[in-house]
Amino acid sequence: MTSIRPTELAHRIVRGVLREGDLAIDATAGNGHDTCFLAKCVGASGRVIAIDIQRDAIEATRRRLESEGCASRATLVNGSHAQIARHADAHSAGAILFNLGYLPGGDPAVITTPRETLEALDACRLLVRPGGVITIVCYPGHPGGDDEAAAVARRVGAWAHNHWRTVKFTVIGTQRPAPFLISATRRGERIGNADLGLEIGNWKVSEE
Ligand code: SAH
Repeated sequence: MTSIRPTELAHRIVRGVLREGDLAIDATAGNGHDTCFLAKCVGASGRVIAIDIQRDAIEATRRRLESEGCASRATLVNGSHAQIARHADAHSAGAILFNLGYLPGGDPAVITTPRETLEALDACRLLVRPGGVITIVCYPGHPGGDDEAAAVARRVGAWAHNHWRTVKFTVIGTQRPAPFLISATRRGERIGNADLGLEIGNWKVSEE
């Protein structure tokens, strides 16, 4: 059985939803891996907005985009994702990605916080188009991460009504708290393969 990391699982979901020419948002740019992935998904006619509160992360993301030849598709924002609604119109985004916690290789003291993460998620509800998706990789393993992960699962789980399909993907049987993925798909004319038809590997899928 293959072991899929939650970030890779998020990519599989998002790849099934995004189409050429879409707008995608990376709410936690970090080292730019997700930003580059999104830039490739939306193609030359698409656009990516990448947000990070740390200037170093924005610079790292810019370098990665340049080395991969897709910098012209991206707008980089050095600020908090709590203000995400300033950067995109309602119903405009095909996918919004969150990868919580701290910047790998950066200052582990700078972490995402429940207050700003929840504020951003609430704003994202309006930004996603029908058929679009929000994915959030949560890290319950570090100090503060547990509370944030639980708060995110509670908040997004509460959206599970007519307009949203919310799913939590968790690894079971681990000794220590393992990262998990939450996806929220806005119901519409096109659900894509957001939570259907995935090769799940070692992941247990439960609807919130
Ligand atoms: N997706 C990244 C990893 C993200 S790490 C990659 O693939 O490389 C989490 C990032 O969230 C860090 O870079 C941190 O600076 C950023 N962050 C923390 N609080 C934030 C906030 N309020 N708004 C935007 N970014 C924030």
